[in-house]
Amino acid sequence: MFIDSHCHLNFPELAENLGEVLENMRRSDVGQALCVGVSLDKFPQVLALAEQYENIFASVGVHPDHELDAEPTQEMLVRLAQHAKVVAIGETGLDYFRLKGDLEWQRIRFRTHIRAARECGKPLIVHTRAAAADTLRIMEEEGAEQIGGVMHCFTENMEVAEAALAMNFYISFSGIVTFKNAVVLKEVARQVPLNRMLIETDAPYLAPVPFRGKVNQPAYVKHVAEEVARLRGIPLEEVANATTENFRRLFHVL
Ligand SMILES: [Zn+2]
Ligand SMILES: [Zn+2]
Repeated sequence: MFIDSHCHLNFPELAENLGEVLENMRRSDVGQALCVGVSLDKFPQVLALAEQYENIFASVGVHPDHELDAEPTQEMLVRLAQHAKVVAIGETGLDYFRLKGDLEWQRIRFRTHIRAARECGKPLIVHTRAAAADTLRIMEEEGAEQIGGVMHCFTENMEVAEAALAMNFYISFSGIVTFKNAVVLKEVARQVPLNRMLIETDAPYLAPVPFRGKVNQPAYVKHVAEEVARLRGIPLEEVANATTENFRRLFHVL
């Protein structure tokens, strides 16, 4: 069985075909999925999915690309995270690729999420793009290693992976690892300890080969696992078992 550790089932591309998307999950042995929150106003949609489906979990956070969104407070995040199906805080982090200019607000927002995670005892889902040094620095300054979490949709090198691993974070591979030109990332997928990696789709985005360019869905997470298994020269089953166990250990779910 596989678990999709990061997807956005409430986004229209998936929500409009939810029945089919969930049926495809079943048929592809994707037993569970974490539907990650990206804004406070869409959080009720995320939570509703987690409440309706036993095998769907939720997280609460405001994405670093959402410049104009209502700013979450630490207290607000902690309160929303009290729900039993909310297993993490995020996604949060830094993105210097999508937005330019003075991004101090992103760094402040990231710190708020780390403080909330530490207060409520739930792990972090960290998004980092073109901002690895600042992401790691803020994680260190805010004591993120005390709560841990996952570096989702990892696209950095082994040095960044090692720094994150040292702070009790897991490394999550997305469909990007199946792309031919992802040479550095494929090397990371060979080296990250098996007991510290997760797999994800980030659906509806980033569909793995052979679906590249199409709408992604949790069922496709199997293709990420297949590429990791191929790169490491181990059976697919070993990747499936390890990433499933890792997911359950990190997010405290059965
Ligand atoms: Zn992300
Ligand atoms: Zn995401």
